[in-house]
Amino acid sequence: MEKVTIKNITAQLLDIPIKRPHQFSAVKVSSKSFVLLKVELSNGIIGIGEGTTPGIFWNGESVETMKLVIDQYVTPLLLDQDPVLTEALLQKMNRQIRGNYFAKATVEMALLDALGKWYNIPVHQLLGTLHKDKIPVRWALASGTPEGDIEEAKEYVTSGKYDNFKTKSGKEAPEDDAKRSIRIAEGIRAHSTIGIDPNGSWDRLTSMKWMGDFFDAGIDFLEQPLPPQDVEGLARLAAMKKVPIMADESASTIDDAMRLAKADAADIFSLKIHKAGGMKNTIKVAGIAEASGISCFGGTSLESSIGTAACVHAYASIPNLDYGSELFGPDWLADDPVKEPVTIKDGYIYVPDKPGLGVELDEEKVSAYLRQ
Ligand code: MN
Repeated sequence: MEKVTIKNITAQLLDIPIKRPHQFSAVKVSSKSFVLLKVELSNGIIGIGEGTTPGIFWNGESVETMKLVIDQYVTPLLLDQDPVLTEALLQKMNRQIRGNYFAKATVEMALLDALGKWYNIPVHQLLGTLHKDKIPVRWALASGTPEGDIEEAKEYVTSGKYDNFKTKSGKEAPEDDAKRSIRIAEGIRAHSTIGIDPNGSWDRLTSMKWMGDFFDAGIDFLEQPLPPQDVEGLARLAAMKKVPIMADESASTIDDAMRLAKADAADIFSLKIHKAGGMKNTIKVAGIAEASGISCFGGTSLESSIGTAACVHAYASIPNLDYGSELFGPDWLADDPVKEPVTIKDGYIYVPDKPGLGVELDEEKVSAYLRQ
């Protein structure tokens, strides 16, 4: 039998509109950019991967840097190599290219999609076995006003689409942010809860001051209140035993996870396949959490159905995913570059069961959103 090799790799940039502008702590966005990666094997099978970041403010990578790193540095390492030795290829990338985890995760995604299609099994079977066949999803409230957010939450709960929420903060002064979050939490507490995510924009004293009020308002978790490097500050907040502290930007790689676990700096890790450098690394992060008594939450970089499918394959195999997920990306985008989007209904996202990632590209949509 002739040996199968990696024959061709292409990375394209797509810009897909979103349903309404989204306010992060640092920036407001009205469309989302993606790297669409295709890895073609010598047997004709094409694996797809999707790279996207919340924004360059998040970890320093952007779709443009990902495309450059892949075209210039990853492709020469992978061409003519044996795709079955995926782990060896990933280690080779790690030795030769420092950082750039979002780019590496995109490559891993396309390789595993190709292998899954070749072996005729879903990616979750390449990663291990499933713990669940669907996982809970929370929606991010971002209407712009507390009243609007409370109204939006009630509509979702009534329609049954989503019943738990997250709110972004960090645009206003920390003090005003805290008060706004408490108002929203109190407005919806009869039927659901929220977690707060200031994306590292608060300081230690503000966070400490409001922890008791957050607890009283029934807030589910406080995600990454402090800058990514302030692990000691997170440890102090966690030691207060008020609202559970979730680490996101601070808990990117497996090394970060170990450092946080040793410092007792988080009650929950937000997982993200891109920041960890791929699905396999994400499962390793969850393993460190499991051994340390830390819960996991399935985070998002706001992927389309391609990247979201990759997230679900990984997250659904994790036993300590106690806080569900925020995999609402496909619902937040105004369009999706696949023929059939992943299924999100009644507050859950379902694990795709077709070979590979389980989603099929819609080439017409890809051409429509291709960056010129
Ligand atoms: Mn976050």
